[in-house]
Amino acid sequence: MLLTTDDLDEFHGHTHLVEWDGKMVNMYHYHATYEYPYTIGAFKGIPVSLKLNQ
Ligand SMILES: [Zn+2]
Repeated sequence: MLLTTDDLDEFHGHTHLVEWDGKMVNMYHYHATYEYPYTIGAFKGIPVSLKLNQ
């Protein structure tokens, strides 16, 4: 099934069961479509900072 922008929220994502790390989880995720904005419309969530050992 091909999704369109009308199937997704303003961020170009939605929530449903997906396989993640070998388990089925109800998770928010983005989709790419053949219509504008093609990939994500905006970022949703809180970014995480990682400190790498140098
Ligand atoms: Zn989906």
